[in-house]
Amino acid sequence: MPRLSIPELTQYERADLSVLPRKELEDLAWRFREIARTLANRLGEDSTTSSRPPSNDDPFRRGQRDGKPLAGQGQDDGEGQDATAPAAKDKAGKDKTPAKPPGKRPGMPGHWRRQPIVVSREIEHVPMVCEACQAALGVEHKGRHVSAHHVFELDRGDMGLQVTAARHSYFAASCACGHETVARPGVGLCSQIEGRKRDLHLSERCLVGPMLAIFIAALALRFRLSRLKVREFLLDWLGLELGVATINRCIHEFGRASEPVVEELIEEVRAAEVVHLDETPWYQQGTLLWLWVAVTANTVVYRIGSRCKENLVALIGHAFLGWMVTDGYMAYRDHPRRQRCLAHLIRKGLALAEGYYGPGSAFGRDLVRDLRRLIERVRDGDNDAAIRRLVARIKWNCQCNEHEIEQKVRALAREILNDWEAVIAFVAEPLLSPTNNDAERALRHAVIARRISFGTRTDEGSRFYAAGLSVIDTCRKRGVDPWTYGRDLIAAARKGSSLPGIPARLAA
Ligand SMILES: [Zn+2]
Repeated sequence: MPRLSIPELTQYERADLSVLPRKELEDLAWRFREIARTLANRLGEDSTTSSRPPSNDDPFRRGQRDGKPLAGQGQDDGEGQDATAPAAKDKAGKDKTPAKPPGKRPGMPGHWRRQPIVVSREIEHVPMVCEACQAALGVEHKGRHVSAHHVFELDRGDMGLQVTAARHSYFAASCACGHETVARPGVGLCSQIEGRKRDLHLSERCLVGPMLAIFIAALALRFRLSRLKVREFLLDWLGLELGVATINRCIHEFGRASEPVVEELIEEVRAAEVVHLDETPWYQQGTLLWLWVAVTANTVVYRIGSRCKENLVALIGHAFLGWMVTDGYMAYRDHPRRQRCLAHLIRKGLALAEGYYGPGSAFGRDLVRDLRRLIERVRDGDNDAAIRRLVARIKWNCQCNEHEIEQKVRALAREILNDWEAVIAFVAEPLLSPTNNDAERALRHAVIARRISFGTRTDEGSRFYAAGLSVIDTCRKRGVDPWTYGRDLIAAARKGSSLPGIPARLAA
């Protein structure tokens, strides 16, 4: 069926039907039955019964059908796309037979590096201070060779990228006091999860140097490549062979190092004058969660969690005093200083204007025209009287339609009246923008990533993903190079030294 232009829908009033001859009435009823059947069929279609992509499926109805595998089951890395694998969770979320875990089966032969490491630099570490008496040591005190490891590092030249390998050697040094001090690679942050075979410990004893690690994190987080694609990219374009686990480790190291920085960013969000908030569905191992975002003038913070209010509180705290710009979602409703996103209301008005709502369509058209005009007039700083008249007309228009017969028309008019202060807050408050575009734009990137990867797999992965994106986007918003900053952040987190904060906006 083409775009529904069905004359029958607008042509007949109830009174007309009573005078129609029986034969015509029957024909009419049959035509309506065909329309209803086509629409009902189309409404029931999803990615399993039509050529629509799975990303189009209703997030609330995912996996409801019996025997239908949960979309996004273990596809984070493009692995395990075995269509015959049984769904791991049924409707109630109870575990059935668990899906095959990722990685090597126990007892299978291992893989080894096929590439020899060609070392181009030797870096020696000699203790500088005696552990016992704090006397100065140095190269002249270099004693026995204690340990060594290789580090691949990415040299980021003016117009080129090159991977080089360095050999880090650690030495002992003897002091005049008789104590022998041994130099060791630094050990920093860690991430522990109960029951996991091996926890993530950030350490300088690592095959991948900080610049290469942040490059890998950039490919995954900013350029949305799966772990397997990152491996392919490194091998094909830089001639570097790394395993998926090493690549995953780099991405997680950046996420772990970002977490303390995000704590500080959250404090900045809570002190902001205006914060834009939004949320979008997110999947964690097929379970529906929400990705929240809070955007201020120079900070972006993401958070993955449920849709309940505690996640909102985690972002902006209990005592947020500034202005919020939001959509109509209930969790935001009880905040007193709030601007409702007018783009959402305009879209709803357009739906009325273009639908079959009789006089309600005229309400939709007027509403869209008046809201757009209001946004323009406030932006251009027109005189107050004209703006006041326009505001009064919008309110009057809604009051005229709040008892309209059509449910959708009534609902929109009431929605605007119930939230009236938040709809027109931007008229009096020059700080506010009338739409929530800042937050929606911030979510776009993650929405595309979700469509490619079907979300994250674990709590830890979700936390690290949100933290990493927060740091990258905040850097971009402040005009700071995220990758230089990220390199320093990873280096500090591995060493165990204090983490650098994201500099405030650089002067243009
Ligand atoms: Zn000493």
